[in-house]
Amino acid sequence: MRAPSSWTSSRLLVAALALGAKAAPDPTAELTAQDIGDFAAVEFGDRSVRGFPGPRARPSPARTAGRARGLAPAQRYSGGALLRPNPPAIVCYEGPAYDEAACKNLWPQGSTCLPTEEPVGNCTRGLPEYVVNVTSVKHVQAAVNFARNKNVRLVIKNTGHDFGGRSVGAGSLSVWTHNLKDFELIPEYRMGPYKGMAVRYGAGLEAWELYNHMAELNFTVTAAGGRTVGANGGWFASGGHGTLTSTYGLGCDQALEIHAVTADGEYVVANPLALSCKTGANSTTSFRTDDPAAFWDAMSIYFRFSAAVVDAGGVDWSYLTPLGNETYTFSVGMTWPNRTVEAVTEILAPLYEQLQAIGPRVHRLRAARGHALPLPPLPRKNWDDDEVFANTFAAIRVSVEAGYTFHGLAIGATKKAAGWPGREGAVNPAWRNGVLHGILIGLQPKGLTAQEARDEEAAIQEYMQLWRDVTPARART
Ligand SMILES: Cc1cc2nc3c(=O)[nH]c(=O)nc-3n(C[C@H](O)[C@H](O)[C@H](O)COP(=O)(O)OP(=O)(O)OC[C@H]3O[C@@H](n4cnc5c(N)ncnc54)[C@H](O)[C@@H]3O)c2cc1C
Repeated sequence: MRAPSSWTSSRLLVAALALGAKAAPDPTAELTAQDIGDFAAVEFGDRSVRGFPGPRARPSPARTAGRARGLAPAQRYSGGALLRPNPPAIVCYEGPAYDEAACKNLWPQGSTCLPTEEPVGNCTRGLPEYVVNVTSVKHVQAAVNFARNKNVRLVIKNTGHDFGGRSVGAGSLSVWTHNLKDFELIPEYRMGPYKGMAVRYGAGLEAWELYNHMAELNFTVTAAGGRTVGANGGWFASGGHGTLTSTYGLGCDQALEIHAVTADGEYVVANPLALSCKTGANSTTSFRTDDPAAFWDAMSIYFRFSAAVVDAGGVDWSYLTPLGNETYTFSVGMTWPNRTVEAVTEILAPLYEQLQAIGPRVHRLRAARGHALPLPPLPRKNWDDDEVFANTFAAIRVSVEAGYTFHGLAIGATKKAAGWPGREGAVNPAWRNGVLHGILIGLQPKGLTAQEARDEEAAIQEYMQLWRDVTPARART
């Protein structure tokens, strides 16, 4: 019993600021005039959300503090939903909250108050001032209305995995969707040409939780390969992909309905065809050789084979990392949905033959366990022509030889894989004929000045430009 579709319920922003103990138990109930009462700050209105003001309009600390004080009445109304937490990484810094063990388990979020073993100064600010722990549509509506009416910066945080720190805006009101965990299997669902099983799940579900539901109830939906990434949220909205992408497309390709709160506070059920899916990512094998020339030959063969992998419905993800002194490591994992071991062995046979043909210099294939900048996937055109492929691979090689890690994801999110409704959606067409989604990773040294950090960024961009230069213009849509 498998249904390659999901009925996602992105209850982005839920609202109980004005409700407290009187909140209705139904998480989908909307904010009413009765709920709002005399707390005008959460009224509906048509002012546009200004977000965080630009440099000229940047509020002074006093004004920001004033706005934060304006939130105090909201705290009274919230019934516990409104939180004022310390930045998570405060446990890494000197002071009463210091906790070495807790510090070791933190994921860096944003650019301030980062987890560190060498703390300098303190870590009390730089993240949202207040957080709404949303568990209902009303919470979301009240938070959005409040931010709009008071011109407070609003951010939405699900898991906090955003590489650019967009889920942790300084001085903001944060809508935290983590606890929207509802899940429902719908045996019979119809929409447009689709008829069959569907699932509905909340915006806070993580990939690992969705995988557990799949195992328990025996259905299949797309989810991130990274297990702690949100099953909805930023992954869903920005071209999120996973181990099933060459079979069922991107996460957003499978959505039949999206429940959301818009910037004017309205709760809407959106038709996914009107939504834009933007771009922004078992067996494992690694190569061993003591000959750099053989290593690069093997790499070229491996990456050339990516087109065959995605054409056969497979997905692979690999890391090519320089260790210094002309030494490199390469590791790769693959998934082959609905394929037997025999079928996969057959698909991969030409790859193994080519690698073996390099000679004894590639002397072992073994099973292993195994500042990031992505580009839209490198297109099929780069694989169709020997010379263009050689240039593409040279650009990757030069980037790795310069000290960066290349993270490659061979995924084929074709229209055929997407099916309906995805094939009619607004996803960036670069996904539809892509073969390899490349991410260049550079670790920034500690303690950089702002200018040094900008220089690091400019340096990695120079290598990314090599990738753009080898990609035919029309394929770079
Ligand atoms: C360890 C790790 C593994 C990863 N693995 C994969 C992978 O396998 N496949 C892949 O495609 N990507 C992967 N990624 C990238 C990941 O998909 C993106 O970082 C994604 O944006 C994370 O979304 P999130 O909701 O979990 O995180 P968040 O940081 O909470 O949110 C990301 C962005 O989405 C916004 N957002 C979140 N929820 C909502 C919502 N309900 N409504 C509106 N806006 C919202 C936030 O404001 C923010 O701008 C990985 C990232 C990490 C750090």
